[in-house]
Amino acid sequence: MTQSRPRVVVVGGGFAGFHALRKLERLLPPEAADLVLVNPTDYLLYSPLLPDVTAGLLEPRHVAVSLRYQLPRTELILGRATDVDVSGTTLQVDLLGDGDRVSRTISLDWDRLALVSGSVTRQFDIPGVAERAHGVKTLIEARYLRDHLLAQLDRADALPDTPEGRAERQQRLTVVAVGAGYTGTEIVAQLQHELTSVASRWNRVTPDDVRFVLIDLADTVLPELGKSLGDVAMGALRRRGIDVRLGVTVKEARDTEVELTDGTTVPSRTLIWGAGVTASPLVTKVGTKLQRGRLVVDAELRVPGAPGVFAAGDAAAVPDLVVARQRARQGDSDGPPPVTPPTAQHAQRQGTALGRNTAADLGVGRARPYRHRDLGLVADLGGRDAVAKPLGVNLQGPLAKAVARGYHLYALPAAANRVRVAVDWLLSAALPTQDVQVGAIPPEAALVATAQQTERYLAG
Ligand SMILES: Cc1cc2nc3c(=O)[nH]c(=O)nc-3n(C[C@H](O)[C@H](O)[C@H](O)COP(=O)(O)OP(=O)(O)OC[C@H]3O[C@@H](n4cnc5c(N)ncnc54)[C@H](O)[C@@H]3O)c2cc1C
Repeated sequence: MTQSRPRVVVVGGGFAGFHALRKLERLLPPEAADLVLVNPTDYLLYSPLLPDVTAGLLEPRHVAVSLRYQLPRTELILGRATDVDVSGTTLQVDLLGDGDRVSRTISLDWDRLALVSGSVTRQFDIPGVAERAHGVKTLIEARYLRDHLLAQLDRADALPDTPEGRAERQQRLTVVAVGAGYTGTEIVAQLQHELTSVASRWNRVTPDDVRFVLIDLADTVLPELGKSLGDVAMGALRRRGIDVRLGVTVKEARDTEVELTDGTTVPSRTLIWGAGVTASPLVTKVGTKLQRGRLVVDAELRVPGAPGVFAAGDAAAVPDLVVARQRARQGDSDGPPPVTPPTAQHAQRQGTALGRNTAADLGVGRARPYRHRDLGLVADLGGRDAVAKPLGVNLQGPLAKAVARGYHLYALPAAANRVRVAVDWLLSAALPTQDVQVGAIPPEAALVATAQQTERYLAG
């Protein structure tokens, strides 16, 4: 590829990449630079609403923001970056062809590079997990999980009332979920609410047959929201019959049961893996310093030792200047310098800062360090249950739910998606839940081992 203007290449069209390009499109006149985005999909996935997709409250497309429509000046290359050559200023990209296969590999030159490839589901070396567990990080996984659970109701309903039939029914209607952070807890709580509300539509299955087991090594649920709201959430989950087991994790996942580290075994054919994330392995290709797997950057989001390379979001260890200042005021100098947590809230704002600082590098405007005070987190637990901590204030119940939904509508970066999501919520409150399966996603496409295709950029 030949070029006359500087080329800014952004790898990853998630929160950080999208907002970086939006800022660059606003700041840079068209003749100042060519803007290129490499991403495997043509949408930004608003992942905080994936639990609503899995529960059937939202249509999958409504949480997918069109990159082509929202970023009209950016050239979108559908593919996956597999390698970065910092000294040669080139990027290897596998272009996607039919059936998500690689059609060819290209080498892309860049003058400025933004590595914002996010994170991947964190796996541990636990037998059976990669091949049997379902992650909750992509739209494919969320859609598959919903169909899979509705199919389990069908299969369970068709079983004979014999001892073997009853045992299989229990396996099919028991869901084990690992990870009581906001991802795992929201998914379990919302799925439980929706599945138990539709289960009575089947002939033999009853809502009481549907069982959810939520497990975590930690000693609390939703640690991100603090002890008091964690206790509120725990109370709501237990009141609704969700079996929360803390201080344990999975020892081995088998086809029809999950063995836990406390020696117990749960008969189940569905294992949901929400045990956190780790930075996209692409960042290891840069060859500069990592902190707990994330690419170390300075406060202006530049990668030290890699001229022209910026990084942000889940993939980067961004200094948290606000927390550092609070700690300094308290005279607390222990431990490593704080970095921002991997949340959409930070990734979005870091993306905007990255866009501004990249434009400054090209001579437009001035670079500034990234600084943002955490606004808090929200967790929708299905029905009227929710907890939220906006600006440090503890909220629960319908008020927390209103804050959570209001925040998501505000943070969704496209008006058309906001309207669609708001209408979906209104319709799902007024109309019966749809219990239909759309199908079309093969089970192997939605497993932890395969869904994010990490092997493509780990090879070589
Ligand atoms: C179910 C769920 C619920 C969540 N809820 C919340 C919440 O309530 N609040 C909150 O603040 N955060 C939440 N998060 C976390 C939030 O989604 C992430 O912190 C945020 O998406 C990080 O933004 P990012 O831009 O760094 O990465 P992403 O948004 O993940 O974007 C990364 C992009 O890079 C692409 N990519 C990856 N590898 C490559 C490659 N090799 N080449 C090209 N492209 C690549 C990916 O396909 C993706 O499009 C949730 C996450 C999940 C999964």
